[in-house]
Amino acid sequence: MQYEAMRQQICAVGKLLYDRGYVAANDGNISVKVAENRLLITPSGVSKGRMTPDMMLLTDLDGNVIEGDRHPSSEGKMHFTVYRHRPDVGAVVHAHPSTATAFSICRKPLKTPYLAELVLGLGEVPVTPAFAMLSTDEVPKSVEPYLAEHNAVMLANHGVLTWGSELWQAFDRMETVEHTAKTLLNVELLGGGVPLSDEQVVTLISMRGQYKTLAQKTKGAI
Ligand SMILES: [Zn+2]
Repeated sequence: MQYEAMRQQICAVGKLLYDRGYVAANDGNISVKVAENRLLITPSGVSKGRMTPDMMLLTDLDGNVIEGDRHPSSEGKMHFTVYRHRPDVGAVVHAHPSTATAFSICRKPLKTPYLAELVLGLGEVPVTPAFAMLSTDEVPKSVEPYLAEHNAVMLANHGVLTWGSELWQAFDRMETVEHTAKTLLNVELLGGGVPLSDEQVVTLISMRGQYKTLAQKTKGAI
């Protein structure tokens, strides 16, 4: 079995997605680029909290199975689209965290600059304009416009897609999307909050380069 360590890392991330309530039942999918035109991707029909390393599929970017005896995730096309448009991306995570999914149903992007993390790290998280029918080409087409300029997108009436240079970064971004959505929901429940000033936002944006340099020194972040 090839790529044993990465298969185990995918299982660990799947368990975290499940334990944190970002997926229910068999929802969600994870993929990692392990070589040129080679991905490890989670199987369909299995809880992400109960996966074992042997369940992963090794595929190419067209979805052809190279190794494994299960069916790859039904939303694989969405993952393949991310890798085609972003050669710098090494991992993609899709989940249905309930607060961010509610924002997607209400077509509310995460963009008000209440939190430094949103400005500095994650960036604005847009929502696709309309529901894309599951397992069709509508799903990859719906995310294409957001791939170049963002680190995450909310899929209308569906869930969240994040990507990163490696798997933990893609997971961290999923966690930050849901944490931000929860915080923004509480702000709305409390009657609205005070955003950061334009000057503070500009300062934070100017700091992105410093953090990027630091992150690259430690783990090769995008
Ligand atoms: Zn989904």
